[in-house]
Amino acid sequence: MSPPREIEIVGGGLAGLSLGLALRRAGVGVTLFEAGQYPRHRVCGEFIAGLGAGTIAALGLAPFLAGARQHREVAWVFGNSSAERRQRLPEPALAISRHRLDAALAAAFVREGGQLHTGARVTDTPSRAGRVLCTGRRRANPGWMGLKFHVRGLTLATDLELHLGDQCYVGLAPVEDDRVNVCGLFARRPLCAKGANLLLGYLQAAGLRSLAQRIAAADIDATSFCAVAGVACDPGITSSAGPSLGDAAGVTPPFTGNGMAMAFQSAESALPHLLSYAHGEISWAVCSRLMHEVLADRFDLRLRTASLLHPWLLRPSRQRWLRALAPVRFPPLRPLYALLH
Ligand SMILES: Cc1cc2nc3c(=O)[nH]c(=O)nc-3n(C[C@H](O)[C@H](O)[C@H](O)COP(=O)(O)OP(=O)(O)OC[C@H]3O[C@@H](n4cnc5c(N)ncnc54)[C@H](O)[C@@H]3O)c2cc1C
Repeated sequence: MSPPREIEIVGGGLAGLSLGLALRRAGVGVTLFEAGQYPRHRVCGEFIAGLGAGTIAALGLAPFLAGARQHREVAWVFGNSSAERRQRLPEPALAISRHRLDAALAAAFVREGGQLHTGARVTDTPSRAGRVLCTGRRRANPGWMGLKFHVRGLTLATDLELHLGDQCYVGLAPVEDDRVNVCGLFARRPLCAKGANLLLGYLQAAGLRSLAQRIAAADIDATSFCAVAGVACDPGITSSAGPSLGDAAGVTPPFTGNGMAMAFQSAESALPHLLSYAHGEISWAVCSRLMHEVLADRFDLRLRTASLLHPWLLRPSRQRWLRALAPVRFPPLRPLYALLH
């Protein structure tokens, strides 16, 4: 019997690493090219909603999530007011830093015999047999930017806080080691500040002055600051040049807390088809088509729903409706959660 065909993965975020690890555990040769290094901080709210026990088991993720915090309640805070709406999450969310999670997955991939090339940006990314793109978000209109850092010594109203400001939202999520992740999506503004002060400046400019003061009084880890520009979301799975997983296949708005889960779930969905290809049962063309179909089936409705809701969180005119309807518990979280996860 001939050995399995090899798989090449471009991009070592959650989609690429979890896929590479699962393929290695199934005895398939994998080479993974990652432009960056491990460990490193990523712009990410670092809370994982809607991951599901099936995906954790299928990809063997339990050991990597063992140190994650579990969060059950979120407080929505509208503008600079102290008005908040608390909601119990239908399922607990997990929170763990990407600094820890990505590095642990990368180390496990190498232990399992995967070939990992870091600092290796692939510049020709057209489709070719056996190559899977896990390259993350495509750069889009630079109008929206994501900013993040970790703080210590910040007490939250409840497990998680989500603050809605003028053309922005910001999540606070405790992760491991008594750190709180502060991460937001902001409409770009001409601010002069740099590093951690840039995030504080954006909070002020978006009208979230009390939040900015609370955070400034805590212990900010300036080394964890990171930023990305050009954040955009997709209303469905994209038809890219080649088989893509995670954000490369379709980006969900950050407020869902579901992008990390989708990265894992897309690897889970693609895995059986990639194994069939590796064992010579199907061609690369068939494998690519099946991967696209399975992702569209699993994620299209989720992405469409999330992109319709997104402006309600960002635009003050619509946030006012959310605030007015909060006392009567509208919109209802449970059915929306089911559609978004
Ligand atoms: C502001 C913000 C907040 C967010 N908050 C949350 C949250 O709280 N919860 C949640 O679940 N999700 C959140 N997300 C989304 C989440 O971060 C992504 O959905 C997730 O990281 C996608 O994983 P991925 O593996 O597809 O891509 P990534 O994690 O982006 O990994 C892609 C990798 O590919 C590498 N790469 C790219 N191009 C090349 C190339 N040509 N050659 C080699 N390597 C390459 C990159 O260096 C990167 O390491 C947030 C996103 C933003 C912008």
